[in-house]
Amino acid sequence: MEGKAAKKTIPKSASRFRSVCVFCGSSPGKKAAYQVAAIQLGHLLVERGIDLVYGGGSVGLMGLISRAVHNGGGHVLGVVPKAVLPREVIGETLGEVKAVSGMHQRKAEMARHSDAFIALPGGYGTLEELLEVITWAQLGIHSKPVGLLNVDGYYDSLLSFIDKAVDEGFITPAARHIIVSAHTAHELLAKLEEYVPVHDGSSVKLSWEMEQIGGIYYSPKSDISR
Ligand code: AMP
Repeated sequence: MEGKAAKKTIPKSASRFRSVCVFCGSSPGKKAAYQVAAIQLGHLLVERGIDLVYGGGSVGLMGLISRAVHNGGGHVLGVVPKAVLPREVIGETLGEVKAVSGMHQRKAEMARHSDAFIALPGGYGTLEELLEVITWAQLGIHSKPVGLLNVDGYYDSLLSFIDKAVDEGFITPAARHIIVSAHTAHELLAKLEEYVPVHDGSSVKLSWEMEQIGGIYYSPKSDISR
């Protein structure tokens, strides 16, 4: 039945990740391939016993992946700023909902609850979330893997731009290594499972207690790099 989680036993030890945060479009995109990829990634998370953390709601690719995970019997956590919580703004959030005060706290909470990040195709919101977790990795705030699901070459131009930034001396080769990309969910998850961070010795090594995010100072105990 739509919106109801199936009762089944999920292999909780199948992945090194307990939960993955997925950034993706609040729109479905024009190509069916984007929607298919969101659903396939949702199914893969369920298959591997990985919980989904996302921005909440039922719109666009966000709705598709959350429905795929929830209906497959997986756990879904939607982290939603109070301002967009009303159903008429984001639609229904399946599973667990965590209401937060604003967009900054949302990103920090999504990160804190996840062991890895994946970006599906999306717009400004997705890019902003993706680039922020990459920047946090560059600064040494966390060492969790960051994956780009490059469906149908959607992110080819972004990856070319990042390579240009490396060539031009604005991104170090070690920082380029932070982004793991693949064309399919299976390939991406396999790469993320094997990901080992590369440190070039120049990163700042900030920690959460030094970094104020959304008005919250995180203590070492609540460090997201668990
Ligand atoms: P976009 O890529 O611009 O569609 O934005 C999607 C990303 O921004 C998601 O990963 C969400 O965390 C956040 N976001 C943007 N719009 C919404 C919305 N209407 N409902 C919930 N989250 C949203």
